[in-house]
Amino acid sequence: MKELDIEIIKSFSAWVGKTNQKVVILPHVNPDGDAVGSALGLSRVLKNSGVQVEVISANGYPSFYNWIEGHEQVTLFSKNPKKVQQLLVESDLLICLDFNHLSRTGDLRPLVESYSKNSILIDHHPYPEDFTDVQISHPECSSTAELVYHVLKASGLDQHLDREAASALFCGIMTDTGSFDYNVSDPQTFQTVGELLKFDIDQDYIHGEVFDNYSVDRMRLLGYCLNECMEVFPEYHAAVMYLSKETQKKFNFAPGDSEGFVNYPLSIKGIHFSTLFSEKDGMVKASFRSKGEFAVNGFASENFNGGGHRNAAGGEVSASLAETLDKYRKLLPVYQEKLVKTKSK
Ligand code: 5GP
Ligand code: MN
Repeated sequence: MKELDIEIIKSFSAWVGKTNQKVVILPHVNPDGDAVGSALGLSRVLKNSGVQVEVISANGYPSFYNWIEGHEQVTLFSKNPKKVQQLLVESDLLICLDFNHLSRTGDLRPLVESYSKNSILIDHHPYPEDFTDVQISHPECSSTAELVYHVLKASGLDQHLDREAASALFCGIMTDTGSFDYNVSDPQTFQTVGELLKFDIDQDYIHGEVFDNYSVDRMRLLGYCLNECMEVFPEYHAAVMYLSKETQKKFNFAPGDSEGFVNYPLSIKGIHFSTLFSEKDGMVKASFRSKGEFAVNGFASENFNGGGHRNAAGGEVSASLAETLDKYRKLLPVYQEKLVKTKSK
């Protein structure tokens, strides 16, 4: 990872260190393990240091993150918009975590856009939009949770780290690297994990809570999708899975049930570009994953109003599932050259 900019860390320290400071932490909409882990890990450390902190979110997150200390104190805009508005009005500092575009704030966008106090972004996605006073943007970092750890260390706040905060940050690194499978070529990531493990965190428990927590319906949904709702295009090294509303109903779909599904087609020999389309109300949510050089963030931003990392991106379109699949199938020949010449490592 690149060195942290010391001037930026100084302004971060100065802002969070002010007495009677009220800090609000905001992860991206539909928070994933890195967003929730970073937000709750950072809030725990700041609380331990005596700062008043609130975590807000545009909407909820999967229940398999409910073991993280402090999760019950997150105020959801989808459930309690007035409270969220009040927390923002009363706050002195907004810390945006694990996103770098206003489009990732969901229904909170107008409130974030009009926020008039100091704001900081801590994030690891490429191409940040300039909407905060200060940006701590490190796309070369495995996860926002790892970046939060480096920021805490550089600002001396790591003295307030404890087992609960370390567990939350570990969860963020673990989920954003697919259990230390990808984005882990920088030795610093493992060094960070090693330092977090010194807090006596229970990594077996954390892994079990997040990954070995399927309901029977969810496991059968995975089997059904792999069997009935996957198309493979060996000539393009690509595969797509899709999840219609009908299928979701059939398996009593709960938020988070399709988390990780998009990775499965990458286990097919020769496939290095995987897509999952999930039908929502009036739109389709897309998830893209790749191995090697095929840049799915480009594919997402060029065709599906999205973005993300080179090997993990997402987007959405206002179209039916059938139209979206049709669009996808027509795009494969357009990207043929890039898909075919790209070798997965
Ligand atoms: P997922 O497929 O797990 O939802 O998201 C994978 C990656 O793509 C994450 O890094 C996430 O931030 C990014 N991403 C997901 N959906 C969107 C989207 O709608 N817009 C943008 N810009 N990025 C997204
Ligand atoms: Mn992340």
